[in-house]
Amino acid sequence: MPRGAYQGRMLSYQHAYHAGNAADVHKHTVLSVLLEMLTRKARRVTYMETHAGRGLYDLSGAEAAKTGEAATGIARATLPDGPYARAVSACRARDGETTYPGSPLIAAELLRDGDRIALMELHPGEHGQLRTTMRGTGAEVHRRDGFEGVRALSPPKPRKGLVLVDPSYEIKSDYADAARFAKGLLGRWAEAVILIWYPILATPRHRDLLDPLRPLSPFVHEVDFPATRAGGMEGSGLALLNAPFGAPARITEAIAATEGCFRRPD
Ligand code: SAM
Repeated sequence: MPRGAYQGRMLSYQHAYHAGNAADVHKHTVLSVLLEMLTRKARRVTYMETHAGRGLYDLSGAEAAKTGEAATGIARATLPDGPYARAVSACRARDGETTYPGSPLIAAELLRDGDRIALMELHPGEHGQLRTTMRGTGAEVHRRDGFEGVRALSPPKPRKGLVLVDPSYEIKSDYADAARFAKGLLGRWAEAVILIWYPILATPRHRDLLDPLRPLSPFVHEVDFPATRAGGMEGSGLALLNAPFGAPARITEAIAATEGCFRRPD
């Protein structure tokens, strides 16, 4: 396989341009709620990611400045007390006030000794940085295709666990592929809690993800963004399969208490 390519596709997406945007605030708030719920009982858990990114971002860097997305996300948000706010504060106290944690670092912050973290990241540069970021956390960091890697490690030990599916949706088929992956994974690991993020665009491509999942009755949570440039993201969505008991109410509550970056109903 040529460097930087997967099945003929170039890996051009870099999350550093988007880190800390309103979609990250949505996704990471919900992820944090779920991690907190899954670790309330003594039983250990496995946390896996199909598309991990580099794990730590500098919002004062050139990438964040170029898009300005963090400025309309985490920089503008007022977070309620809770696991997400704790993870962001811990990252800033350790790595610097202008940093922002990616999902792997949020998980490392909220999970316990004895919980397992396995992360897939295919881009060589992002993977290298992720290894550095996760050093000392005990996380397994794999450079392999996310769907293939998580499938190969499933069902994991411990068997109780959560999978975050967070592709970059650069091509149209990514939506249907994510749904196919989630359904296939439940065939191997029936109790997996699966959280799938998707962008909401003017063209409702996310129907290709949600329609095939409908028989599994996912909990779907969506937010709108206040102002969108033409062709940009209009909102952010999450589909949750095997939602833990009480999770929908806690998720709704946590997002309702987050001020500043989501459009409220008139
Ligand atoms: N989950 C991260 C977070 O919330 O902090 C952000 C991940 S970003 C949206 C998507 C990542 O997937 C990019 O870093 C990209 O390099 C990686 N990627 C793209 N194709 C992949 C594949 N087939 N398998 C694994 N990772 C891939």
